[in-house]
Amino acid sequence: MNIIPKPHKIKTLSPARFAYSPEDAEKIYDPTVPAEGYRLVSSGEGLKIFASDDAGFFYGKISAEWLGADGDMPDVIVSDAPRFAYRGFMIDCARHFFSVEELLKRIDTASKFKLNVFHWHLTDDQGWRAEIERYPRLTEIGSYRTSTRGDGKPVKGFYTKADMRRVVEYAAERFINVLPEVDLPGHMSAAVASYPQLGCTGAEIAVKDSFGIHEDVLCAGNDFVYEFICNVIDELAEIFPFGYFHIGGDEALRLKWLDCEKCREKMRLNALADEDELQGYMMNHALAHLKKLGKRGIVWNDGMASNVDPEAVMQYWKDDGASLKKAVARMRGGTDTVMSPFFAYYLDNPYGMTPLKKCFRRNPVPKGADEKKVLGVECALWTEYVDNADKLDYQLFPRLAAVAERAWSAWHTDYRAFKRRLRAAYNIFDKCGVKYATMNKADPNPIAALVSLIRFALNVMDPSMKESLLRQKLNAKRLKEKYSPVNERDRI
Ligand SMILES: [Zn+2]
Repeated sequence: MNIIPKPHKIKTLSPARFAYSPEDAEKIYDPTVPAEGYRLVSSGEGLKIFASDDAGFFYGKISAEWLGADGDMPDVIVSDAPRFAYRGFMIDCARHFFSVEELLKRIDTASKFKLNVFHWHLTDDQGWRAEIERYPRLTEIGSYRTSTRGDGKPVKGFYTKADMRRVVEYAAERFINVLPEVDLPGHMSAAVASYPQLGCTGAEIAVKDSFGIHEDVLCAGNDFVYEFICNVIDELAEIFPFGYFHIGGDEALRLKWLDCEKCREKMRLNALADEDELQGYMMNHALAHLKKLGKRGIVWNDGMASNVDPEAVMQYWKDDGASLKKAVARMRGGTDTVMSPFFAYYLDNPYGMTPLKKCFRRNPVPKGADEKKVLGVECALWTEYVDNADKLDYQLFPRLAAVAERAWSAWHTDYRAFKRRLRAAYNIFDKCGVKYATMNKADPNPIAALVSLIRFALNVMDPSMKESLLRQKLNAKRLKEKYSPVNERDRI
């Protein structure tokens, strides 16, 4: 049966076919069916979907659409339920802006693969995209950059509250929750450009027109910043009913903090051992505020300082050996985790680096970790080098289907069977009106893979990226100096 993600169990009763339409399915409540699960029975007695909740009925109907793609339905019983409760996809709308209409189309397509979280990356160094009434300059100033790496073409756009509500509503109709992300304390240049008092020095800066890692982070010693974080969360929490809220935490350089008297004072007053703990202190402030609103915060794994509230959810992306070891230890200590490993589930990677096969083959449960601590799976699409919807689709599809299979289906390694079912997925992409990479492009031969890698490298490596690497090196050097035994007296 051609369904992605692969259902838990399919029993074919006979070669008979029936002229049923998914729209005609009879819905029958059955409390024994697990959450989000369904039992689809297509037989001589009609088309029936049994479920214990509305999501289950919805997914049963989606499966009926796949089964009935040729115009009739087989004689079959499908018993199905998801492996993970959190099945996400992320689109970065900060580096490049995508209209509400463009987003709705991708949300609709993702729903056909039974994904249930749209992670909306709304803020970054290169653009602030969410209207916040209390801080109008965030969108007046922060949603506009004059150029991208010197190309002279402005990039602008933001979502009004009505826009965001529309996305939430449309997604909810497809049983998709929308997870907003406000990335802090790093990746905040657009906010600092809008309100210079958010930074350590108060100096005016521009919204960034290059990528990589920038140093204009939120000042961790400034009361205005803590107030800002809570106010932004409050306004967004009103729009996004989802029980989770992403507060970023990744790639925050310490260069400004090291030279800031207010940051050093905050460390002294709170007996914080280092800048990691200072970041943890700030994340905890946001997490505690979210908790008051009945929400759980999500933090990227490189932002999970040792003092971060253990109830925060970790999103695993940084995918080197040391990070994995640390993440597994944290999971063993009880931290719930969303798995988005860079090398397998980052869909902005060229196909030469992360072919479809690699997405498919990555088990979301790391060795040594308890599957119960894996809340779910998410693929991420960062858009530094994705400036239009066609490119977005090319990167997303068909890899999103492989990640959806990992998020929903029981672990299996039958790639050939997956590829057979993928043919039906291409029909779904066409029906939804999205573009994609063909199977040959998605699993390129070695030469095509090399070409895609070289193209990507040429695109990424510009002088601004070299500057970013130098900043990271300097950051590491300054921290090493501060915490070397020789400088013991000079700490803080
Ligand atoms: Zn500071």
